Amino acid sequence: MSDLLDNAIYSIQLGIEDYQSNDDRRPISALRNFYAGVLLLGKECLLNAAPDAEPMEILASKFVPALDGDGNLVMTPKGQTTIDLNELRERFGTFQLKWPDGNIKDLQRLRNEFEHFHSKAPKETIRQAIAACFPLVEGFFAILQKSPKAALGSAWDVMLAERAFFKKQKADCDATLQVLPWWDSVEDSSVFSCTECSSSLLFQTDASNSEPTFMTGGCKACGSDFTAEETVEMIVTSVFAVDEFQRVKDGGEQTIYDCPECANPTYVEAGIYVGCYFCQYVIEGECARCSADLTINTQSVNNPSLCDYCDHVTSRDD
Ligand SMILES: [Zn+2]
Ligand SMILES: [Zn+2]
Ligand SMILES: [Zn+2]
Repeated sequence: MSDLLDNAIYSIQLGIEDYQSNDDRRPISALRNFYAGVLLLGKECLLNAAPDAEPMEILASKFVPALDGDGNLVMTPKGQTTIDLNELRERFGTFQLKWPDGNIKDLQRLRNEFEHFHSKAPKETIRQAIAACFPLVEGFFAILQKSPKAALGSAWDVMLAERAFFKKQKADCDATLQVLPWWDSVEDSSVFSCTECSSSLLFQTDASNSEPTFMTGGCKACGSDFTAEETVEMIVTSVFAVDEFQRVKDGGEQTIYDCPECANPTYVEAGIYVGCYFCQYVIEGECARCSADLTINTQSVNNPSLCDYCDHVTSRDD
């Protein structure tokens, strides 16, 4: 067994131990250890795929191209910095390894935040991180052709149990939101993020209510209550705002707008859904003058029956 694999297993086990402890300082330590362990496990998959190479030739973050004495191009690792999670994922691609399913964004976000981590529900947040990383840990062990149970021992049993518990909680929360008119446009509710604790366990108190404006929302992890506006905005932001900055920078379309009707930042124009998640206002129909389809981008704010261009042209005629 390699040193790296030993360290990976030890870090994951330590993280789970920290998680189970009732010491207040341990949640941060749990996240740090668990994150480090998962990352090391992924790195071990790369080493395992090229057993004859030097570890730094595989794991270095930066390389310098140089010519050797015979004029051949060689890539030499620069510095001691090894790849981070994003680079690990890229390198899985260039090593033709399949990246396992599973959402590591949760863990990564928590990892980035944890120096100032003051979640209202640290234990619940870490449980979610463990549940989210479960498929990744399982997938890495499959690539290594090792049994996670044999390697991790009781830490694996804890991960199994926490994942099952989290899945049940999440399913119960999602079930309360399923009667809402836009539920089907939420492709992946695991991205929900409570503004107080970043848990995805958002729910509404009345599971029979199908009217977004009447919602009373809550978070199962930290116990916070939210108004209808807050709940809808949280859901819209977590589902559609992810990557919005990058998408728009890359020339893509913005998806979230202030609603012309209720003024909440909950008007969505995405392939899968058009309309306000809060008041359900939808811009539809054609411009009365040029017959172009009206959208949030083209509808005139001065005259909702005209497009911007026609409103501009006709108001100039006046
Ligand atoms: Zn919360
Ligand atoms: Zn609205
Ligand atoms: Zn027009």
